[in-house]
Amino acid sequence: MSRFVDFKAVKAAVTMLQVLEHYGLAAGFNRSGNSLSGPCPLHHGENRKQFRVSLEKNCWNCFGTCKGGGNVLDFVARKEGCSLREAALALCDWFELPTQEKPARPARDAGKPPTPETPPKAESRPKAAKAKSPGAEEDGPNKPLGFALQNLDPEHPYLTERGLSAETIAEFGLGYCHKGSMTGRIVVPIHNAEGQLVAYAGRWPGVPPDEDTPKYKLPPGFRKAQEVFNLHRAMRELQDKPLFVVEGFFDCIWLWQHGIRRVVALMGSTLSPVQAALVQRALTPDGRIVVMLDEDDAGRAGREKVVNRLALHCFVRTHVFTHEGQQPDSLTAEQLEELRTP
Ligand SMILES: [Zn+2]
Repeated sequence: MSRFVDFKAVKAAVTMLQVLEHYGLAAGFNRSGNSLSGPCPLHHGENRKQFRVSLEKNCWNCFGTCKGGGNVLDFVARKEGCSLREAALALCDWFELPTQEKPARPARDAGKPPTPETPPKAESRPKAAKAKSPGAEEDGPNKPLGFALQNLDPEHPYLTERGLSAETIAEFGLGYCHKGSMTGRIVVPIHNAEGQLVAYAGRWPGVPPDEDTPKYKLPPGFRKAQEVFNLHRAMRELQDKPLFVVEGFFDCIWLWQHGIRRVVALMGSTLSPVQAALVQRALTPDGRIVVMLDEDDAGRAGREKVVNRLALHCFVRTHVFTHEGQQPDSLTAEQLEELRTP
């Protein structure tokens, strides 16, 4: 599927500062007047004055090895090692800028009445990106990603140490990421109910080194309340088995590996109305659900609400763990076998 992306609109909507912030680089830069200077993030230079950003012109220049510069698209393309088009699509995803399936369709401008007549201009492409400010919250589904991460390492020790098999790792497309915004993380592809890739979650491989490093990183603008992880696979399974609802990606993947293939994850301990509706799609009218949230304060608090909401539509059983802190991925193969054959 190809998406139409307006380079000019992307350049107008995203600032170099926002891009540096996205990469977690902004703190390493000094500001003086309308410009920033710091070490070059492209050739990984040490000289703290070699790389300069003009906030006014929204462009960058490296006076070191790179000997050149450009705009936000050039920067992201160089940093990600991708084309300008891929860079533009990545920026649209990170900053929630609209793209269009076809160039002919007019831009959707939420909350505003359509402008009846725009005077014809030389540049009359839809200025779609102008409508929203970066990071703005908006309802509605996440757009399918225009790219897939390449060269992920599926043999990273973190994955094998979690006991995941090569088959599981391949099925879920897991891998260690060397390049781009998820560098240094294990990525988990997230699909919508139709099986389209909508985002990558990045799991720090182990215990994060400090409080500023989150265990999970999700792309800015990704709305997890709009998705249920693994739903597209769960819907492909025979519906005579109960549907397991868990919190985390790896809980879900662990159960899947142990033969509980009708399993989805909420990516947290809450269930949004959209998620409740999505879960219904994986159920027949006499369908059954097993809610299996973590045995901790958040899990217990969420459990009751999740069960109450789902019980309006189907038969719900709650799984309670015997020990504090237990969660689905701490269940052994034998315990999972018992769950499979209740
Ligand atoms: Zn450079």
